[in-house]
Amino acid sequence: MLRKKVKTRFAPSPTGYLHIGGLRSALYAYLFAKQNKGKFILRIEDTDRSRYVEGAEIQIMNSLSKIGLKWDEGPYLNNDSKIKEKGQNGPYFQSKRLKIYGKYVDMLLKSDNAYHCFCSEERLKKLREEQKNNNQPTKYDGSCRSLPKKEVAKKLSNNEEYVIRLKVPDKGEIKFKDIIRGQVKFQMEDIDDQVILKSDGFPTYHLAVVVDDNLMDITHVIRGEEWISSTPKHILIYKALGWEIPEFAHLPLLLNKDRSKLSKRQGDVAVEDYFNKGYLVEALLNYIALLGWHPSDDKEIFSLKELIKNFELKRVQKAGAIFDVNKLNWFNCHYISNKSEKEIIKLADKYLPDIDHKLLIKILRLEKKRLETLDQIGDICSIFLGIVDYDPEILIFKKSNKEDTFKALNLVNDELVKYKKWKQDKLLKVLTSLVKDNNLKNGDLFWPLRVSLSGQEKSPPPEEIMEIIGKEESLNRINKALAKLK
Ligand code: GLU
Repeated sequence: MLRKKVKTRFAPSPTGYLHIGGLRSALYAYLFAKQNKGKFILRIEDTDRSRYVEGAEIQIMNSLSKIGLKWDEGPYLNNDSKIKEKGQNGPYFQSKRLKIYGKYVDMLLKSDNAYHCFCSEERLKKLREEQKNNNQPTKYDGSCRSLPKKEVAKKLSNNEEYVIRLKVPDKGEIKFKDIIRGQVKFQMEDIDDQVILKSDGFPTYHLAVVVDDNLMDITHVIRGEEWISSTPKHILIYKALGWEIPEFAHLPLLLNKDRSKLSKRQGDVAVEDYFNKGYLVEALLNYIALLGWHPSDDKEIFSLKELIKNFELKRVQKAGAIFDVNKLNWFNCHYISNKSEKEIIKLADKYLPDIDHKLLIKILRLEKKRLETLDQIGDICSIFLGIVDYDPEILIFKKSNKEDTFKALNLVNDELVKYKKWKQDKLLKVLTSLVKDNNLKNGDLFWPLRVSLSGQEKSPPPEEIMEIIGKEESLNRINKALAKLK
């Protein structure tokens, strides 16, 4: 157990839905705080007004709540869906903390760790273009770094527009130890004189994140790898303000299967999309926990409680983690099939077809193991409710022919007419003996029988379908298939 009271945070920008990557950052920060008996807070980083999306903070809070990650401080929605705040360190919206940042900007200016920059957008654009053309890194050239105080005062009294920049030392290096990546080094020459206060009076992320993490007593900053190159700038600010530097853990990137950065183009990235498709909270949570972390043994199934106990920040991998929806489906299928039929019906309420309750229970008892997402429930039920017309060609197995198919279905029909006990185990035995006794191959019989019962090339095994639809309907469908083959 760590000596200092651990405090972590999730600090999303309200620019849209909660992203899978955001959820993973939140989850790891939550797990680390909780396993150390610490606190986990939510802070909304809304200083970039141009990227603000109305209501995004509400969506983010709703998604986190659905997942069951409870935060100890920060904004929350009360029963009337109004935003309230809890905790001693508020406000938890950065846009409400402008005065606080102003104070620290003044301190940085006074200690000569920051300076006014009056360069116009136009000049900066030209500078960037020149640097690009010369194959140089794009960086502020320091033109306002040593403006005489008098000139600054004059420009200010003339109401000239300005930003405040961080004065990054010319030389040297900056090192820090990342919990996941070990020693990380940056050369000062590669660090830009970052804008910390914009001309609209809003701080940039870089200043606000440091001020807030310090004032909110954050001990461990756990966030995505895309922020690692910002960390040296943050450390310079911590040092300039004489503050203790928190520990950092930068989580590996999330990748598509082709190893490109996880993006909308190759599938859903919003957590909400997964809820809408009928993924269970347990499955999402379990799968996302394993995106970059795995335990020392090969245990894969974890509840939130078990994750709190077992998660190890130090074991998080450096290499990018591939988001594989098939694996997520596997987890979802696992959690769905462990639920009772009644629970599934409750969870899948909005996807249920118009179907008799008893029949639905019967279907789910046998077929829930095939549900990868709850929204497949309609498809799974459809073949039990009736079959749509199909092309007789699909009745014939690829290694068989029309005659054998006809023969096999006839045999099945003649044999099954005799049976009363209509249970899948018994039915399977009968079908297997029919294959054997008549010198057929499995595909000659099982394939056409399954297609005749479902009308589809892909469907559950015939004995399962038959048990659910009963003897009369089964024989009916087999006879229809025979008629189609004539
Ligand atoms: N506001 C940043 C984001 O949207 C948070 C980065 C951090 O955690 O420091 O991802």
